[in-house]
Amino acid sequence: MKRGLMLAALEDGRTWDLLVIGGGATGLGIAVDAAARGYAVALAEGEDFAKGTSSRSTKLVHGGVRYLQQGNVALVMDALRERGLLRRNAPHLVHDLAFVVPSYEWWESPFYGIGLKVYDLLAGEYGFGSSSHLSEEDVRAAIPTIETEGLRGGTRYFDGQFDDARLAIHLALTAADRGAVVVNYCPAVALEKDGAGRVCGARLLDRESGRDFTVRARAVINATGPFADGLRRLDRPDAAPVIAPSQGSHIVLDRDFLPGNSAIMVPHTDDGRVMFAIPWHHRVIVGTTDVPVSGVAAEPVPTRAEIDFILDTANRYLTRDAGYADIRAAFAGIRPLVKAGEGSGTAGLSRDHSILIDPHSGLLTVAGGKWTTTRHMAEDTVDLAATLAALPQRPCPTRDLPLHGHDPDARRHGRLAPYGSDAPELLRLEAEQPELARPLVPQLPATGAEVVWACRCEMARSVDDVLARRTRSLLFDARAAQAAAPAVARLLAAELGRDAAWEDAQVAAFSALAAGYLAPGS
Ligand SMILES: Cc1cc2nc3c(=O)[nH]c(=O)nc-3n(C[C@H](O)[C@H](O)[C@H](O)COP(=O)(O)OP(=O)(O)OC[C@H]3O[C@@H](n4cnc5c(N)ncnc54)[C@H](O)[C@@H]3O)c2cc1C
Repeated sequence: MKRGLMLAALEDGRTWDLLVIGGGATGLGIAVDAAARGYAVALAEGEDFAKGTSSRSTKLVHGGVRYLQQGNVALVMDALRERGLLRRNAPHLVHDLAFVVPSYEWWESPFYGIGLKVYDLLAGEYGFGSSSHLSEEDVRAAIPTIETEGLRGGTRYFDGQFDDARLAIHLALTAADRGAVVVNYCPAVALEKDGAGRVCGARLLDRESGRDFTVRARAVINATGPFADGLRRLDRPDAAPVIAPSQGSHIVLDRDFLPGNSAIMVPHTDDGRVMFAIPWHHRVIVGTTDVPVSGVAAEPVPTRAEIDFILDTANRYLTRDAGYADIRAAFAGIRPLVKAGEGSGTAGLSRDHSILIDPHSGLLTVAGGKWTTTRHMAEDTVDLAATLAALPQRPCPTRDLPLHGHDPDARRHGRLAPYGSDAPELLRLEAEQPELARPLVPQLPATGAEVVWACRCEMARSVDDVLARRTRSLLFDARAAQAAAPAVARLLAAELGRDAAWEDAQVAAFSALAAGYLAPGS
């Protein structure tokens, strides 16, 4: 996945079957599907792959217990099936996780126990394990730091967990393996139309060279998530907005707040949502919130109120109270929810996906959904896009399509497990150049070899690409990531042929960005 070669292919003057704009979960899933069907597909991402919402999720591959509470059985069944397919197709990136719902009221264990039995049943052949009642002692054994005052017992159920940005990179690699052209730092700045007013391509800007160029396609797919209305306005300046953006935030703590291998699920917070505390790599992720926002920022920042709410809720369930000083990183993402009508709340809006085709221009917009249901969204989208573009209909093969790096035994690679079958290549790099085997900074696991690999094989172009998404250093520890920035910039500069001024600018830009991930006042 070399950017220069991809860019040259993008500009070679051919007319693509499909042009996908946006390289988050949605766009990348579409690129994989279309390429696997044998269509000529190109994807242009304005920033880095998964720079938007797709690197800022709770990192669960789940049916959504909350949607069951809302009675949305069809959505839950769809997501449970997709959960099973994703674990099968990307076993190096998706694994099972036990969730404990602690009970402090007499009615909670029977109530949630029955609900979670229904959840098991809806999974059918895609089940991850049966839910079960836990005694008070069982809960303490699973969650040694659980608040024991008033604890009566609990329920255990199973869902999936993954590394969102890494899955995005592996979708990009899968699409590229199958002949798709995928390019980052290449936003669509205008749409091209034919004499009849139909969208027939886009004007793209190569942000590295500053050059813009036209790419033609039989159908153009707007997969820009929370930014979808912006692209729709390039098509029609008076397009009414369809996205109801909602911010969700998380904090990251040390593992001693939640030792063991089980997550906590709080089914009903004060604002009526669910809250998770989840072991993730060597850290714990706690969240999330749901706050309607008016604008969509490229780098959303958690508010103090969101962080206070997460800390308050967590501290009710944990013996050791966490405070601002314990926060390793805090991050926010914007849900691309599709509007259901009037009303200001977003917690009740559908998490199902929507596909809209503009009747005049034929621009296809796909938004909503979840990371978990990306494959299904892509299948529906490519089915429609193929009709729109008058392409020969071809069946969708992605239910049984192993993703790049597929390795059912990846855990043997330890910290390199998420790279799957690429892990031995990274180990070879470390063996050939032992200085690359050392961690960039002592507080973080990422090594120089990961930086070099990210640059050579995963299209990383900046310090942010490496520290935020190729390795998850920024989320593991924002301050340590700032300390690692100069070493990353040096390695990238050597790989990309950049000078010292570029290195300095990269370090300064990343330092400013990472400040938004630090706890308030720290
Ligand atoms: C707080 C939170 C927690 C979540 N947790 C989960 C979870 O645990 N499990 C789950 O299944 N789902 C979860 N989700 C949902 C999931 O993360 C999203 O549904 C999914 O990531 C949306 O992906 P997307 O590709 O549509 O949008 P994005 O990831 O935002 O991608 C859109 C991309 O388009 C690019 N773009 C914008 N304009 C242009 C342009 N003009 N040209 C080119 N590119 C452009 C952007 O840079 C961006 O990268 C969560 C969401 C949030 C907010």
